[in-house]
Amino acid sequence: MSIRQKVLFKINSAKLEKIDFPKKVSGYFGENTFSMGTMQKHISKSTFKAFKTWLTEGKIISLAQANEIADAMKEWAMSKGATYYTHWFQPMTGLTAEKHDSFISITGPGKVIEKFSGSKLIQGEPDASSFPSGGMRATFEARGYTAWDPSSPAFIIESTLGKTLCIPTIFISYHGASLDKKLPLLRSDEALSKAAINLLKLFGHSGIKKVFSTCGPEQEYFLIDKNYYNLRQDLVMAGRTLIGAPSPKGQQLEDQYFGTIKERVVNFMFEVAQEAYKLGIPLMTRHNEVAPHQYEFAPIFEESNIACDHNQLLMELMKKVALRHNLVCLLHEKPFAGINGSGKHLNWSLSDDKGNNLLNPGETPEDNLQFLTILAAVLRAVYLHADLLRASVALAGNEHRLGANEAPPAIISVFLGEQLTKILDMLENGSKAKVSRKDIIDLGISRLPTFNKDTTDRNRTSPFAFTGAKFEFRAVGSSQNISTPITIINTIIADSLEYVTNQIKTFKDTGKDFNSVVLKVISSIIKETKAIRFEGNNYAEDWIKEAKKRGLPNIAATYESLEAFGEKNNIALFEKYKVFSKEELVARYHIWIHMYNLTLEIEANTLKEMVNASVVPAGYKYEKLLAETLQELISLGKGADLKIDPAALEDRKKHLSDIVSKIYYVRRNTNEMDKLLEKAKECDDKERAELYFKELKPLMEHIRKHADELECVVSDDAWDLPKYREMLFIK
Ligand code: ADP
Ligand code: MG
Repeated sequence: MSIRQKVLFKINSAKLEKIDFPKKVSGYFGENTFSMGTMQKHISKSTFKAFKTWLTEGKIISLAQANEIADAMKEWAMSKGATYYTHWFQPMTGLTAEKHDSFISITGPGKVIEKFSGSKLIQGEPDASSFPSGGMRATFEARGYTAWDPSSPAFIIESTLGKTLCIPTIFISYHGASLDKKLPLLRSDEALSKAAINLLKLFGHSGIKKVFSTCGPEQEYFLIDKNYYNLRQDLVMAGRTLIGAPSPKGQQLEDQYFGTIKERVVNFMFEVAQEAYKLGIPLMTRHNEVAPHQYEFAPIFEESNIACDHNQLLMELMKKVALRHNLVCLLHEKPFAGINGSGKHLNWSLSDDKGNNLLNPGETPEDNLQFLTILAAVLRAVYLHADLLRASVALAGNEHRLGANEAPPAIISVFLGEQLTKILDMLENGSKAKVSRKDIIDLGISRLPTFNKDTTDRNRTSPFAFTGAKFEFRAVGSSQNISTPITIINTIIADSLEYVTNQIKTFKDTGKDFNSVVLKVISSIIKETKAIRFEGNNYAEDWIKEAKKRGLPNIAATYESLEAFGEKNNIALFEKYKVFSKEELVARYHIWIHMYNLTLEIEANTLKEMVNASVVPAGYKYEKLLAETLQELISLGKGADLKIDPAALEDRKKHLSDIVSKIYYVRRNTNEMDKLLEKAKECDDKERAELYFKELKPLMEHIRKHADELECVVSDDAWDLPKYREMLFIK
């Protein structure tokens, strides 16, 4: 029996104790966060007021006030059992980072007390030298600083033997450049706020202090049994399978999407939600996704900065909780070939400080000039900066999705739906007819309700779709930190809002009435940006041709799409809004392209080992079996007592020689791959990424093809690597 077959008998759900009356969520939601409410209870009125002013108006608190908050935070955390604290930050790897310190402080020989000061709350200094900086500092310049982000509440992470207080922070270099994902996001929200407030003033809203982006990321993922995971070097090393023959049953029966959630999985989901609620993460929806063993969690939307922290935390929780259930949570964009990969639909909108969603079209969007103006600004932003949106999701994992006929294509376009399209067409032509609407669906059976129809239908294939009162950017990868895509959306829209505001002001100065000026600005944007709008099937071949005619970029390769971060105009745009300096943006280009290369090298080296140490030896074993039985047959045939059909003998020979060839192809291509990796060492990062995209990836596919063919014929008990049909179907 192979190791793989032995594991089959170990597949089991974790033993769980039944809970008859789970706790009411509202009773414990956010109990592990130092929320505004909790803070208010633990500090003086005046300090709380100062803290709130800091958040809304940017007036920083005093050191004494910081000391008071730090002490309250420590007391609260200790009352919950925390003994350590950490500044929690998001370096440019896209992951989260933490360096823990104890609360203890020496008070005399052999004596300690627990202490936490305002200065330790506000500022930390982890060594920055082992985090990517994209050339922004030399390795010997080790200093980096973390600084408290007061807008995201501190929280407590529990492990079996202790608890840690985590304080969300930004991370900067000795010279003040952002080394993280959070600071640019905060800066972009500030730019968006300024631009939106200026526009809203024109529409008569003067009391608005803050506008911010809101975000609800729908998180897709796979779950597989831990025993199988442990046997797959590729999943352990690269997060995705590098070989593996397709399972006869995949997603073709469409029986998985929204299907009954298996008990083992739903238990996992319950526990994730419970942990998430303690941290104040508002998980809302859970369901089966399209591919076997693929699922989704979606939260209620929040301010982007918080949504982003929460999504990072959620991904960590999912991985942690899965292990408790003998499962492994795969967040890779394409863990399995031939079935759907995972993305993260980024639902984005903008809201003012009174809670108004600025992308809410209302009952009669055609009369809602403010909405139409903001909509036009979004269209212009996407039209002008599709390259940046594409770059914001450019990573090795996502390269398997974008343009691969399942996820949104690499061509960025906008879907608006029938009603809005009609309205925009009317505005473009200057006509003013009413839009006819059929709001009710009548089922014709009196016992069933009538339906109120949404203003737009859905288009699941569009990368940037308007879905009711928000846009959904669907090209984001499932493993990605969402900060960069949000930062980019915020910035390009801030720029367009400013443009629109200036246009309206310019025309208004000519003495025309406000409404007709606004209509004129909107209609000119509609005309200018028409190429970006597409209502059809984005997966169809025709669209690729059509998009080309329209001059829309279609960039499949990561290395090419990342070029957008180095373009002069783009650098100027980000510098103008103080989101990235040139140095910071270029650093991101270098880091992302470098990470792409590292990812491919890890994959290639893992594949090499799997082929040499697992696939080929299994092939040899089978080859030996074939050779020996053939030999026996031939010698038996030579004696008088066994008559062998010559065609059958030929078939046996052919089968053996087929196997010999397959093993040879696998080995030959693996040797080629080795040479290619050697050659790559001579290249700079960009050349290397190009080489990997154009030559290494096809070569890896080639190796895979023959390895997968072997998997399908080699005797089952010689094959140690868990197969797709097992990993994807064992519950
Ligand atoms: P859909 O089914 O169209 O994707 P849902 O209402 O189920 O819409 O929402 C999907 C995600 O979009 C959820 O995470 C939700 O919180 C988020 N979302 C809804 N409204 C907004 C908004 N105004 N801003 C940001 N995200 C939003
Ligand atoms: Mg989904």
